[in-house]
Amino acid sequence: MKILLPTSTAGSLPKPSWLAQPETLWSPWKLQDQELIDGKQDALRLSLQEQIETGIDIVGDGEQSRQHFVTTFIEHLEGVDFAKRETVRIRDRYDASVPTVVGAVSRPKPVFVEDAKFLRTQTKQPIKWALPGPMTMIDTLYDAHYKSREKLAWEFAKILNQEAKELEAAGVDIIQFDEPAFNVFFDEVNDWGIATLEKAVEGLKCETAVHICYGYGIKANTEWKKTLGSEWRQYEEIFPKLQKSAIDIISLECHNSRVPMELLELVRGKKIMVGAIDVATNTIETPEEVANTLRKALKFVDADKLCPCTNCGMAPLSRQVARGKLKALTAGAEIVRRELSI
Ligand SMILES: [Zn+2]
Repeated sequence: MKILLPTSTAGSLPKPSWLAQPETLWSPWKLQDQELIDGKQDALRLSLQEQIETGIDIVGDGEQSRQHFVTTFIEHLEGVDFAKRETVRIRDRYDASVPTVVGAVSRPKPVFVEDAKFLRTQTKQPIKWALPGPMTMIDTLYDAHYKSREKLAWEFAKILNQEAKELEAAGVDIIQFDEPAFNVFFDEVNDWGIATLEKAVEGLKCETAVHICYGYGIKANTEWKKTLGSEWRQYEEIFPKLQKSAIDIISLECHNSRVPMELLELVRGKKIMVGAIDVATNTIETPEEVANTLRKALKFVDADKLCPCTNCGMAPLSRQVARGKLKALTAGAEIVRRELSI
């Protein structure tokens, strides 16, 4: 049976306190070796259970298997030296000490495939798995080898394609690429960003998604948002080309953001994961607020192409707040489902 308005999350959910410090972004692991492997699996089970109990239709691992949405993937690659650090500006916004690309990059073995297989054994519901996108990957590294953002992005796209094909074979229904950098480097997105993303999905039969947001609710992001003016039209720059791309689903930030909803018209025909939950506040949305955001989106997205979702990941929130927000999301979706079936 096909569900109308299937709900999902952008990806991350809070980690249990015995695995990593709660309400902290990119918090280091508290366990090691086999205990860490077992702990991540236990956390995945809990996170999955939380999604099922709150009524989420397309479920994921809650990103319990990674510390950082980009770095954890890169840690598994060859050609990147994590001991050699340089300070670079991330997404033109904040400085961070990052690892250095010192040689040809490659993926000696699968990164998340065993985790995805484990998730597959735990549920029959559709599952979504998130990977970083090529442009966001290059933006969190210092490149001393290729000395070209574009060249490095193409190399990462090939690696992501290898991983994605194995995730598909493991039974993943939707592979999502996180590309917050798409909201910043418009010229590069149009020149080669979308093309490298298409390389990453080449030959896949499962559905593919790209998540483009305004970031977690951290200070650097909220400060940046203040500079964006009364209307956030960043999406407008990249939507025309995305609309023509091979990507099936676009995951966007729509609630409490100043993104004019009519921009969604530019990607009509694609499935849209409409962010109806603000992840930058502890205030839990009411189901009616969620329903309102979905109703606005429905003017520009066909009902059979709309997936209610969170704006971004919820890793930095408390478990109670995250659970409340997931419940609000499914209750809000249910209100609109009933309206649509009248
Ligand atoms: Zn996001």
